Amino acid sequence: MTKQSVYTLPKLPYGYKDLEPYISETVLRLHHDKHHQGYVDGANAVLESLQQAREKKAGVDMTAALKALSFHVGGHVLHSLFWENLAPKGKSRATPGGELEKALEKEFGGFGRFKEEFSAAKGVEGSGWVALSYCRLTRRPLIMQIEKHNVDIYPAFAILLVLDLWEHAYYLDYQNKKGDFVEAFWNIVDWDAVEQRFRAAAA
Ligand code: MN
Repeated sequence: MTKQSVYTLPKLPYGYKDLEPYISETVLRLHHDKHHQGYVDGANAVLESLQQAREKKAGVDMTAALKALSFHVGGHVLHSLFWENLAPKGKSRATPGGELEKALEKEFGGFGRFKEEFSAAKGVEGSGWVALSYCRLTRRPLIMQIEKHNVDIYPAFAILLVLDLWEHAYYLDYQNKKGDFVEAFWNIVDWDAVEQRFRAAAA
């Protein structure tokens, strides 16, 4: 069989200290180098084991393999997006501006209300994410609550902005004060990157 390409850990678009004081260097290093790397390795391991089984024409537990693959690929994709969504304070700004802000105002009745609803979704059960997505059917923005990396996702919706609410994302910096982490997050959103994704999705 031909050699297939594999998932790789993307480099951060900023330095490990650059999101301080909102996300510490320690947390960013662990989160990117260990946790995200773990999902990359996990996804590649499942694909590798499937390929080996194909070559040997061996049986495979497809239920377990696909469950693990969905979890790890979901983790890789969401973390890649999360890093891209963030920017050091100074490069980031308080509101998106442009077409995205207009769309959020139209949907939520104001950017402040969007932030409130997004922040309130921090109650996602267990480990999970909050995401701003875009529905191409209705052409409306919609908040998604993703359990783990891959549960309760709306299929084929464009994901524009994500916030990781797994404990590994904030516990060393904020302990049990998840709400403080969510508040801090708004200081380091790269709205230009989010706007670009919105334009591509809405085009
Ligand atoms: Mn994470």
